[in-house]
Amino acid sequence: MMDPRLKELISAEQIQRRCDELAVEIDRDYAGKSLVLLAVLKGSYMFLADLSKRLSSPVMIDFVQVSSYGDEKSSSGIVQIRKDHDVSIEGRHVLVVEDIVDTGLTLAHLCELLRTRRPLSLKVVSMLSKPAARRHEALVDYLGFEIPNEFVVGYGLDHAESFRNLPFIALLKD
Ligand code: 5GP
Repeated sequence: MMDPRLKELISAEQIQRRCDELAVEIDRDYAGKSLVLLAVLKGSYMFLADLSKRLSSPVMIDFVQVSSYGDEKSSSGIVQIRKDHDVSIEGRHVLVVEDIVDTGLTLAHLCELLRTRRPLSLKVVSMLSKPAARRHEALVDYLGFEIPNEFVVGYGLDHAESFRNLPFIALLKD
C-alpha cells in the first residue's frame, strides 16, 4: 500500500515517455559528437540510468556531488564540491544531468565552476524544475517537467534518504 503521506504527481509511465522524448532531442542535437554525461549525485541516479540507456550517441558517464548552503541573506550562496568528476571535461561536450532545479543556486554555481574547466560545450538536462522558486539564473536546456513549488520525492529524490526508489514522483505531505 502507498504511504499515505504521498500523493502521486507524475506517473512512472509519464516519466518513461518523457525520457524517450528527451533522448531523441539530445541524440539529434549531439549527432556525430560524443559527450560526457555529468550526473549530480545523488538524486539524478535514476534519471541518468533511464536517459543514458536511450541515447545512441557515444557517452562517457561521470558524477559530481555538491552541497549547497543556500543562505538567503548572502545572495552568493556557497556550493561545495564533495565529489569531483574523474574524467577530464576540457575540450569535451558536457551535459549535466540534474534531478531538480529549485532556486537554481546549485546549478548556477556548478556551471560556473565547470566553465572554468573549458568544456567544448556545457548544457543541462533536468528531470524537474520549479520555476516559481527560482532565485538564481540557471539555464536548463532540456527539461522533463515543470512542477509547482512544493516538496517532491521519488524517482531518485529523497526525504532523509527515503523514497528514492519510487518509480514515480510524488508530493510529500507532512
Ligand atoms: P537549488 O540549489 O536549485 O535550490 O536546489 C537544488 C537541490 O535541492 C536539488 O538538487 C535537490 O537536491 C534539492 N531539492 C530542491 N527541491 C527539492 C524537492 O522538492 N524535493 C527533494 N527531494 N529535493 C529537492
